[in-house]
Amino acid sequence: EELRQLVDAMVGGYLPTLDQMEGLLSLDREGAELLFQGADRVKRSIFGDEVHIRGIIEFSSHCSGRCLYCGLRADNRGLERYRMGEEEIVSCAREAIDAGYMSLVLQSGEDGGYTREVLGRIIGRIKSYKDVGITLSIGERTYEDYRYLRDAGADRFLMKHETCDEVLYDRLHPHSSFRRRMECLRQLKELGYQVGSGFMVGLPGQSLRSIVLDVLLLRKLDVDMAGIGPFISHPGTPLGDSPNGDPFLALKTVALARLVCRRPHLPATTALGVLDRQGRDMAFFSGANVVMQKLEPHRYRRMYEIYPKPHGEDLPIAEERRRLEALIEGLGLKVSKGRGDAVRP
Ligand code: SAM
Ligand code: SF4
Repeated sequence: EELRQLVDAMVGGYLPTLDQMEGLLSLDREGAELLFQGADRVKRSIFGDEVHIRGIIEFSSHCSGRCLYCGLRADNRGLERYRMGEEEIVSCAREAIDAGYMSLVLQSGEDGGYTREVLGRIIGRIKSYKDVGITLSIGERTYEDYRYLRDAGADRFLMKHETCDEVLYDRLHPHSSFRRRMECLRQLKELGYQVGSGFMVGLPGQSLRSIVLDVLLLRKLDVDMAGIGPFISHPGTPLGDSPNGDPFLALKTVALARLVCRRPHLPATTALGVLDRQGRDMAFFSGANVVMQKLEPHRYRRMYEIYPKPHGEDLPIAEERRRLEALIEGLGLKVSKGRGDAVRP
């Protein structure tokens, strides 16, 4: 009863204490139902029953970064790498647009092999084919690069803060720092990008309190989007022996983020789907309103190994989209026909 009152108050806009939020993240399956229902009410009040499908082109697996958790890190020599060429990226995007995609994400490792001019040309060519929403997720670059790419037509940028625990962050990112990450996020916002952040749940050394603070950081950053997913251990990394994050905890965290941050687009993350297929679908009823679908050719998907994952059937882009739409409609939800821009107050 006390829990019901707390969740009702949060649906009405009450910001709970840190201890209350930790309590919500510790709920068992039965208690979490109330949390999920509350998050679902807030989600429906903003987005109705619409799910946005975003197409993601993972165009390069080369990375100069050394994030301890990620299979693409520069030190992982056991991985075969690829780079998609300009024509290949543009034609992949066009095929996706023809299949109905209105929102595309261009993601890669931190790959200096693509100059801002090349990336800008790719963005311009996609935009002139159709004015879809274009999101970049290419990591830390110079302010000049960010400005150039914004001018070239990029609408959005995804850069997760990964963890708000500065000591842990700096340990996990020997090539960079938490301060640098925050500076990038501030620059992106200043340049007028719709900005997405997010973090991983279950990183080794991360506490429940720290996850609560991650949610509050999203609120403080006033993000337009946030990706929250479980950490998945990759054997070719220094964290290869660490256990995976708990998908149920990740689901509760998504629900908490919906109640506390309200307006951001929240995906049912791919990582959640890898650890718990049903959990991913449940996320649409626990606050999430977005799903990402990979678009690059399947031979590349297998190589883009951030974490170990099952390899799906090799189907054409249009057929994959039809199946995803059917899945969403099968859940009683609707597929959005729009670009899914930020919902600003
Ligand atoms: N290189 C860019 C960057 O780091 O922002 C974009 C690509 S990076 C692969 C995208 C996201 O993958 C990261 O923000 C991180 O949260 C996630 N990721 C990397 N390794 C992961 C792992 N082992 N488990 C779960 N997510 C992971
Ligand atoms: Fe590179 Fe991004 Fe992976 Fe870090 S998370 S190693 S920057 S691809």
